[in-house]
Amino acid sequence: MEYEYIFEEVIITERNSPRYLLDGEEVDIWSEEFRPYHSRGVADYIRENLLKFERSGVDPFREIVGKSSEKEMVKTALLSGSNILFKGRKGYGKTTFSKSIAKLLPDKILAVKGCKIHDDPTRPVCFSCKKKLLEEDRVELMWVPKKWIRVSGDPMMTTRQLIGGISLQKIKEGYDFDHPEVFTPGRILKAHRGIAYFDELGSIPSALQTLLHELLEEKQITTPEGDIIPMKLDTLVIASTNPANYKGVSDIKEPLLDRMEEIDIGPPETIEEEIEIGLRNMSLKDGALIPEWHLRILAGTVRCMRSKDCRYASRIEVEPSCRATIKLFDHVRAAATRKGHEAVMLSDYGEKFEMIKLGLKSRIEVDYEDDISKDEVIENVVNDSIDRVCSEIYTAIPRTAFGGLMEDIATLERIDVMKLDGLEEQRYLKSFATSICRKSEEMKSAVEITLEAIARCTGLVEKVATGVYTYTGYDR
Ligand SMILES: [Zn+2]
Repeated sequence: MEYEYIFEEVIITERNSPRYLLDGEEVDIWSEEFRPYHSRGVADYIRENLLKFERSGVDPFREIVGKSSEKEMVKTALLSGSNILFKGRKGYGKTTFSKSIAKLLPDKILAVKGCKIHDDPTRPVCFSCKKKLLEEDRVELMWVPKKWIRVSGDPMMTTRQLIGGISLQKIKEGYDFDHPEVFTPGRILKAHRGIAYFDELGSIPSALQTLLHELLEEKQITTPEGDIIPMKLDTLVIASTNPANYKGVSDIKEPLLDRMEEIDIGPPETIEEEIEIGLRNMSLKDGALIPEWHLRILAGTVRCMRSKDCRYASRIEVEPSCRATIKLFDHVRAAATRKGHEAVMLSDYGEKFEMIKLGLKSRIEVDYEDDISKDEVIENVVNDSIDRVCSEIYTAIPRTAFGGLMEDIATLERIDVMKLDGLEEQRYLKSFATSICRKSEEMKSAVEITLEAIARCTGLVEKVATGVYTYTGYDR
């Protein structure tokens, strides 16, 4: 008798509805107040909320920097009710993107209290709820916040972890529907009425991918005992895959791929976007300022290592992601803060750029290190990046001010940047340095980069020690 429920599709309407209790009080779930929170699927909610954003002209994925064409594809795919596969290397925001899609789910929904998969009070999926809703005349409900469930791709994953344990045999032996031996949901079933994010879908064993396809497409599960059980799981699947795992052939099985729209997620298109991502995601929110020139040197270093124009392009096997940029910003701020600097100085990179190596060494791979080590590659690329930014700074010095600025430097002769004060008598130097600062605390750093730029671009100034420059313009 009980057995029947398992195969039946149960739909509760106002006519066959039991009485529902929420926090101990009876509620009319068919009223306007509660109607938005049940009887609707994930795709319906997402479609409706996405259209609300579209009509108000607000970008639902504001936390993602740039990526405008990718956002358009995601919106179209979601509106069409499709699952999405993000393809790209680690650290370019696939997870962030998938989390931001969860924003389109309602903040809360109604569910049958005690249900292991948070069943809808009118569309039960698990046997226990089917039975409860048909047999009992009072059913308790609860609010469930939006669900975003991560399923990490693991080659050792078991059926029990992914799908769960379901046994008809145990029911026949007389176990209760709620008994864990009868039904224990796996990760994917826990995403019922929410979003399932498959991190590295291709790493899931192929036999499990077949089960997953059966669940998503046929809405059924085949148990290890061979029973076929209907399971009308309602979930939006967002998956990610790393092209490095491809090696020419996809690890994701054809039938599953056929159920997803593939969207490439690459590195930020511009250095400005790279810097924005770095700043937004830093761990160190306070501390020394990082002036614009340092942001450009650091982000430029990371971007150069990804570029075909990098002099080591053919040697760098694994390129640094945005996480490298984020950590470089953190490390120079940490180093500057430890030394009590108001703003980052070149010395905060470390004598041999140790603070930059700290953030890059684990994030890049260089092929045979026999003739050149990873450390040397980093040192040279950082140096190139300083050169590039210095030449931008040098070019920015107004021609009409250059003579005056050099005279200012000549009067100082030996300049220890950290010991500078007001620069009251060096008005050209002061005026140019001020023009590149966003805040007055950046002044010393601005003078340093100006001197470094003149030293690198002309030789009229020489760096004699870290942060110490002398004028060499006489007689030469
Ligand atoms: Zn249930």
